[in-house]
Amino acid sequence: MVRSHWLPAYIGVGSNLDSPQVQVESGMAAIAELPKTRMILRSSLYISKPLGPADQPDFINAVVATLTQLDPLKLLEYLQNIECRHGRERSEKWGPRTLDLDLLAVAGKVFNESHLTLPHPGIAERNFVLLPWQDVAPYFVVPKLGAVKDLAEKVSVKPEIRMIV
Ligand code: ATP
Ligand code: CA
Ligand code: CA
Ligand code: CA
Repeated sequence: MVRSHWLPAYIGVGSNLDSPQVQVESGMAAIAELPKTRMILRSSLYISKPLGPADQPDFINAVVATLTQLDPLKLLEYLQNIECRHGRERSEKWGPRTLDLDLLAVAGKVFNESHLTLPHPGIAERNFVLLPWQDVAPYFVVPKLGAVKDLAEKVSVKPEIRMIV
């Protein structure tokens, strides 16, 4: 039997609807229960101004560090399933949502498909991804982009953000 390797995988967690902090906590708890996956660390929670349409509530954001044996496509499928269970509805782009789980990066993996792009596009511009990510993995080298802490230092767009917990 061929056993898959355990690979570091990082997941961005966000919510701005229906008690966002509760949604984020519950989303992280669900990630911790995924098969063939171990949650290693979770970042602090951050509150940030929305990207895109401004007529929506502030976001709660966090990043979770895992080790997984799952294929990235399978992991994404599980994450979308967790989003659905949290009442995620897809409406306008970057609009309000109960739970958003973005697969940010998996060590050594690059995908260029519309249903899975790895690393996740937009990482370099998003302080609400890079600041919590820096909490859990400052030295992780994002494929094609470089170390999280270096990306965090030179992030281009800086919507207002602060750590809450
Ligand atoms: P953004 O991707 O810019 O953060 P978003 O999170 O609002 O925006 P969604 O509506 O949640 O975007 O996702 C749209 C599609 O993106 C999903 O159907 C999914 O298949 C695809 N996708 C591609 N790459 C990834 C990834 N790395 N993580 C999560 N979804 C991805
Ligand atoms: Ca709107
Ligand atoms: Ca997103
Ligand atoms: Ca998403």
